[in-house]
Amino acid sequence: MDDVDSCCALRFACPRCGEEACDEYEVLDSMAPAAWRCEGCTRVFDVLLLCCERCGAEVVSTALARREQLDARLVRCASCGEQLVGDVEVPE
Ligand SMILES: [Zn+2]
Ligand SMILES: [Zn+2]
Repeated sequence: MDDVDSCCALRFACPRCGEEACDEYEVLDSMAPAAWRCEGCTRVFDVLLLCCERCGAEVVSTALARREQLDARLVRCASCGEQLVGDVEVPE
């Protein structure tokens, strides 16, 4: 486990301390926000994994808290520009 580049898992950074996290166990579900505990500052932040239906690109959004998570309907794919989510139910 010393070859970091062979890790194809998703990577994202803690919005508080910038510590890089890696979804090596693939615990994140596409379109479903999840709480993630940072190994750097040991605090929890919110991770949302979005997947482009057109080109398959994955986008990871991080936020300090669930209520600060961005509206997935406003996110567009960085690769093809496709809107990532048509209608997601955002519980309020
Ligand atoms: Zn952190
Ligand atoms: Zn795309």
